[in-house]
Amino acid sequence: MSDEGYFGQYGGSYIPEILFNSQQQLIESFREAMADECFLQQVKSEMQNYSGRPTPLTYCGNLTQSVGGAQIYLKREDLNHSGAHKMNNVIGQGLLAKRMGKNRVIAETGAGQHGVATALVSARLGLECTIYMGAHDIKRQYPNVFWMKQLGATVVPVTTGSATLKDALDEAIRDWCTNYDNTHYLIGTSCGCEPFPEMVAGFQSVIGEEVKEQSIAQIGRYPDRIYACVGGGSNACGIFLPFVNSGTELVGVEAGGIGDGPGEHAKRFNTEQARFGIAQGYATRFLQDDQGQLQETQSISAGLDYVGVSPILADLEQQGKVRMTSARDTEVVEAFKLLMVNEGIVAALESSHAIAGGIREAASMKATDSIVINVSGRGDKDIFNVAKALNDVAFDDFIEDYLGEAAKS
Ligand SMILES: *Cc1c(COP(=O)(O)O)cnc(C)c1O
Repeated sequence: MSDEGYFGQYGGSYIPEILFNSQQQLIESFREAMADECFLQQVKSEMQNYSGRPTPLTYCGNLTQSVGGAQIYLKREDLNHSGAHKMNNVIGQGLLAKRMGKNRVIAETGAGQHGVATALVSARLGLECTIYMGAHDIKRQYPNVFWMKQLGATVVPVTTGSATLKDALDEAIRDWCTNYDNTHYLIGTSCGCEPFPEMVAGFQSVIGEEVKEQSIAQIGRYPDRIYACVGGGSNACGIFLPFVNSGTELVGVEAGGIGDGPGEHAKRFNTEQARFGIAQGYATRFLQDDQGQLQETQSISAGLDYVGVSPILADLEQQGKVRMTSARDTEVVEAFKLLMVNEGIVAALESSHAIAGGIREAASMKATDSIVINVSGRGDKDIFNVAKALNDVAFDDFIEDYLGEAAKS
């Protein structure tokens, strides 16, 4: 990375001038913190004693047999507190906010997963917490909104634009411009202006560091390939970065959605609809139309539904150090089911993209090869989407009855 936060041509800082000083303060505080043994120990201790790290590397013998090919191992980020890798980043930035003397954090959230993780850690660390969320997303993801509020966070509905994630992001930046004295902007993925991509990827790298040790102990060497789903790119950066130039092939799996047309997927690679652009504070590959307007995205998993991508991954892909592929919604649901019935593991729909990509390729690998697939989160949260995809009529009946009862009381 260059001094200005570039990764090749991607990254940088494109932010309002008023934020310049607080951004500089954040960059310096982050560097100081990462050189401070005491801070690193604090982060490690919270990851162990609050979130449950290290997470296991699980060998999947039944799945391996059913796919027929490479040996399949799963990195179990679903076993983190709150059920996803997001906790790693939120613990790191929450502790950093305290170290900087900030008593308030703000965050943007789409599906609400990052909002809940931020609200949890804010409660634990005694930080005031405000979450910006599109009004449209609030309707679709109310259970997460419920928990954020119960945890003591203020949830601000954003009604501008399409009332979704990118509008929530604009509002969060606006808040930061007004309140930077006491407020840390806790970004949820490895995107945005310097130092966020590097910082989030850094806190997530514990995933890959653990896989290094675990694969030596359990496989006897590093895996031949590692697979991770790619939304903003934080779980992929976390498991990939420690393995760059190690000989292990790194494969990102994007949301193929329902088709290859504009607005039907969330692929920022291997499509002409995505190209270099500058938006939301940084430069990366964005899905955009001929006029440069950001496009709508679609995916069965809310967490992969994003128009931009980590500048770190954009650069690694361009250098040929990460390969990108994608999986369509239907293939993702099949992979979700196959893992569930063979191994008793219910993966998030986001993570099921990585499973789909991994098993598709494992089938043509040798039995002496090994792959690791990152299970970024658990699938309980996806019960509504999965029941819909599987046409589970009994579940529909349950919801109707439940809502009927609620309306009566
Ligand atoms: C948020 C989320 C993702 C996508 O975010 P990345 O920054 O790309 O990792 C993936 N999986 C789960 C379970 C998530 O909650």
